[in-house]
Amino acid sequence: SKVLVTGANGYIAMWVVRTLLENGYFVRGTVRSTSKGDYMRKYFTELGFTDLEDKLEIVVVKNIETPGAFDDAVKGVHAIEHMASPYHYGAEDPKELFGPAISGTVSILQSAQKYGSSVKRIVITTSTAAMVRPTDLPITFTENDWNEDAIKQVEIHGVQAPGYLKYFASKTLAEKAAFEFYKKNKEYLSWDLVTIAPPYVFGPIINEVGNKITNINTSLIEWYETIFESSKSKEALKDVGNAWVDVRDLARAHVRAIQREEAIGRVIVSANSFKWHDWLSTAIRVSTSTNPPILPLSAFTEPDPTYNHNHTTPSESPTKPHHIHIINFDTSKAEKVLGMKKDEYI
Ligand code: NDP
Repeated sequence: SKVLVTGANGYIAMWVVRTLLENGYFVRGTVRSTSKGDYMRKYFTELGFTDLEDKLEIVVVKNIETPGAFDDAVKGVHAIEHMASPYHYGAEDPKELFGPAISGTVSILQSAQKYGSSVKRIVITTSTAAMVRPTDLPITFTENDWNEDAIKQVEIHGVQAPGYLKYFASKTLAEKAAFEFYKKNKEYLSWDLVTIAPPYVFGPIINEVGNKITNINTSLIEWYETIFESSKSKEALKDVGNAWVDVRDLARAHVRAIQREEAIGRVIVSANSFKWHDWLSTAIRVSTSTNPPILPLSAFTEPDPTYNHNHTTPSESPTKPHHIHIINFDTSKAEKVLGMKKDEYI
């Protein structure tokens, strides 16, 4: 069967396309320009996929906000993975993000309603950014949480709001719009809706990034700058953290989300919580364990020799912030409905 992947050239989407192809699916990917499609074809050919003329169709959708932009793209596919959405913290006007995030989402749902009679399932990549709220105390967020705070902050502060909150609000509003559309039109639709919420996504890059580090996606840029460019203070390295998932596991979850009926609704897909210093320690250990080292110690942000790598669980009382994970996610739904077992994560 055939799956439509929007924003198919993106960091996560390339892994979703790859995993779909590996599992025997035919893929139709949307990109914003032909050259982005050419890279995809070249990459998958070099990887050894054959019959790509049949198995990988690329269509150009220049502006996802235009009503009807996806009308042709949805025709004849059995499932949709909607991944085209801006992910950066540099927007001045929140509308720069809200437009493509919200209208882009509603636009594909409208097209699927009109012309997607063969579509059975639509999967939208949301984010745990659509669930979290500011906290000093440890919390385990679940699929019942919505990031109302980001929406409110952006309403109050507009262009003055921090860039990451504009992005968080765009993800929350886009996901809300998707469920609203679904609820309203449910009885006339051939498909149902899954939203997959990953936290920070890390792992190998197979999308086109050229030789400029700034071309890598937003989660990897933050990782890179933290590990190599001392972008975080010593305290932040130890105290600040979040949760993460490997891009290959996330791609597996996206494929399962079109296969398993019971996945319907929101699903958090997360491997574990982390503190930024954990990544620094691991990167240093891996890079300096060979002779000669892959990278010298001097290439890295300076580690803190007193950093405590043993973290307690949220239920235990916090003594020092870096002894406890503040942001945690309940992943029981992903385990139950997508079979994302903890010991199978990379
Ligand atoms: P990328 O920036 O690599 O991919 C984003 C994709 O969306 C690209 O194909 C990009 O196209 C497309 N896109 C961006 N803006 C627009 C626009 N205005 N109109 C049409 N297409 C657009 O990011 P990721 O792969 O990391 O992100 C993919 C999805 O996953 C996003 O929805 C993001 O919010 C979500 N996500 C990512 C996380 C992460 O840590 N990486 C965590 C949680 C959620 P082009 O190449 O042409 O710009």
